[in-house]
Amino acid sequence: MPEQTGGANDSHLCPYCKMHPLETAATLPSVRGDGLGAAFSVKTITGCRACVRKQLLFQTLKASAEGWTSPPAFIANPVLIAYGLARATAVKKDEGRVRRILKAAGIEDPNEEKKPVRIAYGLAAALITSDGKVYREEIETASNIGKELFPDFNEDDFLEVAAANRDLPTPEDLAVLLNNVVDEKTKHAVYKYLIAIAAADDEVAPEEHAMLKMVAENLGLTEPGQGFDRSV
Ligand SMILES: [Zn+2]
Repeated sequence: MPEQTGGANDSHLCPYCKMHPLETAATLPSVRGDGLGAAFSVKTITGCRACVRKQLLFQTLKASAEGWTSPPAFIANPVLIAYGLARATAVKKDEGRVRRILKAAGIEDPNEEKKPVRIAYGLAAALITSDGKVYREEIETASNIGKELFPDFNEDDFLEVAAANRDLPTPEDLAVLLNNVVDEKTKHAVYKYLIAIAAADDEVAPEEHAMLKMVAENLGLTEPGQGFDRSV
């Protein structure tokens, strides 16, 4: 199959400035104290070069304030801060990575009809891997709910997307990318799916709640009551 030589990514805008084309992505590890241990996570930031650089610095600065709360985190944090700063200076155009991201998100080909189930795979995978970890139960829950909501949901296809989670942006960023390329009906269907996954484990953490609200906003869903309570 002939390789596409640029152009395809130009129709996708940077989620931060919404002006420049999507050019690159960077994966940023971070650490937070977790009792006496440390919780490591990674986050993939997608955008134009200037915004990815800014986000890397911003997130690193944030980590430098929050990452000191346990002895192991105390040891790891300076290393990760140094990495984040170095990574920010090394942001380059990366068309290959952008193409992989768009593929994982189900929106690679601008001319192809966007199948709701493909969009659902990407967003659900981004959601359950957004804390940098993938739990078997989360995958199972997402599969089971997916099969109920989407008649053509295929577990193997979903697993393939979830396994490529390093190539997925954060759910908030992904929602911005999707906003311009998928129709209203698809947006409602996939958002309903996300809410169902988040609500499946009984409690919805405040950060998760805030993230879902941001996803709805970024998708352009503005009417209240779309989600599991009046605010999302
Ligand atoms: Zn930008």
